[in-house]
Amino acid sequence: MLSKHVIDDAKRCLQCPKPKCSEGCPVNTPIRDAIKLLLESKIAEAGKLLFDNNPLSLVCCHVCPQENQCEGHCVMGRKGMPVQISAIEQYISDYYLNIYKPQAIPPSERKAKIAIIGSGPAGFTIAFILSRRGYDITIYEGNDKTGGVMRYGIPEFRLPKHIIDRLTSALVDSGVKIRPNTTIGANLSLDELFRDGFRAVFMGTGVWRPRKLNIRGESLGHVHYAIEYLRNPDVYNLGSRLAIIGAGNVAMDVARTAFRHGCEEVTIICNLDESGITARQVELEYAKIDGASIMLKKTAVEITDEGVILADSEIDTDENGYKTARPIPGTETLFPADSVIIAVSQGPRSVIVSSTKGIKIKDTGLVAVDELGRTTREGVFASGDVVTGAKTVVEAVKISKRVADAIDEYVTRRHMLGDESYVWDVMA
Ligand SMILES: Cc1cc2nc3c(=O)[nH]c(=O)nc-3n(C[C@H](O)[C@H](O)[C@H](O)COP(=O)(O)OP(=O)(O)OC[C@H]3O[C@@H](n4cnc5c(N)ncnc54)[C@H](O)[C@@H]3O)c2cc1C
Repeated sequence: MLSKHVIDDAKRCLQCPKPKCSEGCPVNTPIRDAIKLLLESKIAEAGKLLFDNNPLSLVCCHVCPQENQCEGHCVMGRKGMPVQISAIEQYISDYYLNIYKPQAIPPSERKAKIAIIGSGPAGFTIAFILSRRGYDITIYEGNDKTGGVMRYGIPEFRLPKHIIDRLTSALVDSGVKIRPNTTIGANLSLDELFRDGFRAVFMGTGVWRPRKLNIRGESLGHVHYAIEYLRNPDVYNLGSRLAIIGAGNVAMDVARTAFRHGCEEVTIICNLDESGITARQVELEYAKIDGASIMLKKTAVEITDEGVILADSEIDTDENGYKTARPIPGTETLFPADSVIIAVSQGPRSVIVSSTKGIKIKDTGLVAVDELGRTTREGVFASGDVVTGAKTVVEAVKISKRVADAIDEYVTRRHMLGDESYVWDVMA
């Protein structure tokens, strides 16, 4: 949005005494106050307000489902268009990140060492908060670059990568050390981190194991998993006809990316009716505008070299309204495709927990924690998708803010003050 429109829209804000927009935001973004400061020519103060509340403000305004959150709650939206909060936040936060100068604390004055595993939204949030509080932070990242899904999942046309680079530079400038290409649990272990003096370890490792369909043909050469494709679409040759199995946000990202990489026909296949399209309406509309077709009530039963064998779906609804699909025998037909991408959700990888004692995981593979993000092993905390399952950036920020406080309290009481009354009694 051009800055003129930002100003016009900022002037539409009613400055509600009890701002519903903030109530509708998982991190209660103080957008009303930021807008007021903006219109008073205090954009730097506005940016600081947003950044201090949410260091990933500039990411969130690009990728949050605002229609259900801030903008969905704006009173102006009751009779017309809500204030375009995302555009205003983007304008302010982009400005602020340009001028943001973290206070680098000299190494000799830093507090205890804290290890952060994973540099996605959860790890970044913890790193920003705890580095500002004077902790000596090291981030371990399995990939060669930081950002997690923000860099290796969400496409560039929705979230420009320079934002992740700028956030990374801000962390480095504040003294945070980053070890890329370092998968904890593969080469280094959690025990070695504690051995080397880290007082607390935070796991923000996300969900990177694609869920399988478990059908014949899934291992063929023209079949790929969505999160692996989105990691680096340039290295794939999908041909011109692509079938995508699944109809969530990730499927829409795949469709739109595939068009930008030369695919001519992209079909999104959903095994349920419209209710099975879990993507945001806006993402669905963009995918359609790009040219994607949607095929409903079709269940993939096999993948062949020629395409996908689809059967009509029989849909069952349980007492909670939860729908499942079964293929109807005898209705199978071939849907021709050059490539197939499977986008039916992700679960966590177990590389850390399988190499470490004492961290309980649930049946789903997600890490069990208490309300403070404490795992069943003393000194080890977790949040983000590895705890909640696939969610959103802002949800990862929200929980991680709470967990950062809990880490601070733990390290201060247990290690800096030697408080024996602090008990780690997480049953999870
Ligand atoms: C394609 C896609 C599109 C999405 N679009 C949106 C959107 O538009 N809006 C939105 O709000 N949310 C979106 N999400 C969801 C959102 O990105 C996630 O909820 C969020 O990134 C979770 O943050 P996280 O920090 O928990 O995990 P991640 O972002 O997954 O980051 C985890 C990091 O940990 C690293 N790691 C894992 N294991 C190890 C290890 N053993 N050692 C070292 N490093 C490790 C990983 O490499 C990764 O960098 C999307 C997700 C996907 C997959």
